[in-house]
Amino acid sequence: MKRIQRRGAAVLALCLAAAVLTGIFLYLYVLRGRDWVAFPSNGDAYDAGRLRAGRITDRNGEELYAVENGVGSYRGDGDARTALLHTLGDREGKIGTGAIYKYADRILGYDVINGLYDPEGTGGTAVLAADAEALKEAHRLLDGHAGAVAVINYKTGEVLCAASSPSYDPDDPPEIGEDDTSGVYMNRALSAAYTPGSVFKLVTLSAALETLDDVLDRDFHCSGKLDVGGGSVTCTSAHGDMKLEDALARSCNCVFASLALELGGERLREQAERLGLLTRLEVDGILTARGRFDAAPEGSLNLGWSGAGQYNDLVTPIAMARLCAAIANGGMAPELTGLRSDEPAKTARIMEEDTAERIGEMMDYAVHLTYGEENFPGLALRAKSGTAEVGSGKPNAWFVGYLADEEHPYAFAVCVEKGGSGAGTAGPVANGVLQVLIKDRGK
Ligand SMILES: [Zn+2]
Repeated sequence: MKRIQRRGAAVLALCLAAAVLTGIFLYLYVLRGRDWVAFPSNGDAYDAGRLRAGRITDRNGEELYAVENGVGSYRGDGDARTALLHTLGDREGKIGTGAIYKYADRILGYDVINGLYDPEGTGGTAVLAADAEALKEAHRLLDGHAGAVAVINYKTGEVLCAASSPSYDPDDPPEIGEDDTSGVYMNRALSAAYTPGSVFKLVTLSAALETLDDVLDRDFHCSGKLDVGGGSVTCTSAHGDMKLEDALARSCNCVFASLALELGGERLREQAERLGLLTRLEVDGILTARGRFDAAPEGSLNLGWSGAGQYNDLVTPIAMARLCAAIANGGMAPELTGLRSDEPAKTARIMEEDTAERIGEMMDYAVHLTYGEENFPGLALRAKSGTAEVGSGKPNAWFVGYLADEEHPYAFAVCVEKGGSGAGTAGPVANGVLQVLIKDRGK
């Protein structure tokens, strides 16, 4: 009798162990199944390292890429293929941030219940957040200049446009050497960190609003230069007497340098970190480049310039667009996705609500006073420009902001390398892409 009891207990233990292991397997299967399926050595999904079948469309259902019998083809003409290359990825996998690699599970038609069951052999569809027309317009307006255009929906967190130039036609690729330094394989919207120039004043401004109680009541004065630490921070002209909102609208370096000196380098670094400019952001598992802010010594010229977006400051276009999204959202930054989503994004607070409101009003004022509403017809635009000095040659042109428009909740950042004036060069690029996005295309 004892023996039977012992055997019974042993069988029960084995059953329990099997149940636990099955549970663990199912848990991992649901959690990680997508990765296992999309793993390139899976013979059911891949043929000699290539996907067997499936397609990628943009948010409006426009087919961008299709795989049939293991052969992938890019849709559209040469300009379209060039404009969409960084969004989709190249044939060799050198643009690893591309959808062909990132969303392989969806292209294959994988789902948790049916796995890869696909009797028709047609695969699945990855529906991207990206808007193909906006990407084409971004590429046309960058007009061969190196640079990037990032647009996100600040309600859903969808990345509508992450355009990068230079690019090339994947069906007619140029000779690109192993030692290539052009960065053509990089999606600059996500992976390039640039000197921000005056768009960084949004960071200094937010720190000032959250740290210096009386800052909105203060009277500032600019004589065209501010002597500090044995050198000078300069403006292009003397801005005279002004309040804080005029200092932003006129982009006064002297005022923002003086605020940086008052706040200190550590406080500014902390703010840039909190606003998500220094960490790697995640877009469906792809990590963006991190920015940089070095806290310069107290009372130094470098600290002054760092508050105006010069010195060692670096930011990525996508992080600037996300910061503008948070300003639009009352301080809440959306989680980003490259896939179409109609759900509100998960958000995280990166700024106080009243700080975001004040900054939004000031960006509105800047459009009225400096950039000109007539240059952005039909757009409820709130913006900040930047003209970032980068050693010798023309400066980088920046234009960042958002639309205060429930129907079109878009935040953006444009950077044109060596483009010259921020509002003059990057402003029209932002306008052109936003015009495409707000147009009712009957979809
Ligand atoms: Zn000034």
